[in-house]
Amino acid sequence: MGSGKKIMMADIPWPEYQKRVAEEVVLLPVGTTEQHGYHMPLGVDAYQVEFLAQEVAKKIDAIVAPTVWYGYKSQPHSGGGQLFPTTGLNAQTLILLVRDILTEFIRHGARKIVILDGHYENAMMLTEAVDLALRASGRDDVRIIKSSFVNMIDQELTETLWPDGFPGWDLEHAGLLETSLMLYIKPGVVDMNKALKVEANLPRYEVFPQYEGLVPASGALADPTRATAEYGKMLVENIVMNYVKSIEEAFQLG
Ligand code: ZN
Ligand code: MN
Repeated sequence: MGSGKKIMMADIPWPEYQKRVAEEVVLLPVGTTEQHGYHMPLGVDAYQVEFLAQEVAKKIDAIVAPTVWYGYKSQPHSGGGQLFPTTGLNAQTLILLVRDILTEFIRHGARKIVILDGHYENAMMLTEAVDLALRASGRDDVRIIKSSFVNMIDQELTETLWPDGFPGWDLEHAGLLETSLMLYIKPGVVDMNKALKVEANLPRYEVFPQYEGLVPASGALADPTRATAEYGKMLVENIVMNYVKSIEEAFQLG
């Protein structure tokens, strides 16, 4: 617990890492490098989950693995799509990248692994990576849990922050959720003067290939203009509390 102990894997010498990795929970944040409107930078999805993992690691015995900064291709309905200068991996690349990382952690002795997902489009690729790594390990003493951080937000908080109706976590791209989180986590990279009130009017089907004008020009899919650092703080506290509860439950930690 806290008290000067290093939490970032990248900051720990190998003998200490080797000892701790077998006992502690390993947290793997996975984001991507994706446009987030005119008012926020490309790193939002990765910054958010890395910060959340660090906050979780202050409350339980855990090591935060280096964040995966690339994810699956952005989709119009959840991230604006690939017409923006967003960097998207092929599905196979992401699956095999994360499979290999998990396989190495298991080889080091990790038995309790948590994937914190910060990018909507990654979900099933990460499920596949976990499945392949577990099968290849042949072990029955490894447990991996995975969750998008938005699943850690309580319904009551959602109702408080979106009193006029909640657009859905997919459409909340660069909207109130992510803008509030970034105003709290890393305010220096947010420019609220460039935050535009937008309303995406997407068809109920997906279209391939995507065309210009399908999503709002800024790339944000929901209204970011009501965002505040105070909301960000409420969200962080709620998400971290529920991640900690979930981890304690999944790994039966005292
Ligand atoms: Zn995002
Ligand atoms: Mn995203």
